[in-house]
Amino acid sequence: MADNGATYDPENIFAKILKGEIPCHKIYEDEDTFAFLDIMPRTDGHALVITKEPARDLFAISPGALAKVMAVVQTLAPKIKEASARRVLIQQFNGAAAGQTVFHLHVHIVPRKAGVPMRPEAAKMADPEELKATAEKIKAVLEG
Ligand code: AMP
Repeated sequence: MADNGATYDPENIFAKILKGEIPCHKIYEDEDTFAFLDIMPRTDGHALVITKEPARDLFAISPGALAKVMAVVQTLAPKIKEASARRVLIQQFNGAAAGQTVFHLHVHIVPRKAGVPMRPEAAKMADPEELKATAEKIKAVLEG
């Protein structure tokens, strides 16, 4: 979708994931937020936390919904054991010029390990079986 900087497209890919129209490897859901694995992970365990509010970016989301997203990021990130302890990169892009490609607010959780570089952006689709196994592992930790 073109980035017109304003409108929310209810048919964007994350809206479709929320509606259950497109599959994903879900790791967490509550009333306000939803989290799943990135299909082109920069590192193993790369996850996305999204709001259920129809908001395209940081400037469109309500402060309450944003707080809920960030609370989930804070809880979830250290539980993704692909990260070494709390070495986690948190990223969030606003607008195409800033690198946003899906115009539904989302926060990246990218586990990091010393000496292990990130894969290039949008480089390679992950093996669905590997994503499934990673999602199961994360869910097991969350359900602890
Ligand atoms: P950005 O808008 O640049 O912050 O990033 C969007 C992210 O969504 C990218 O890292 C993509 O790999 C990821 N992505 C795009 N489509 C899907 C999908 N169907 N399932 C999971 N992740 C996706």
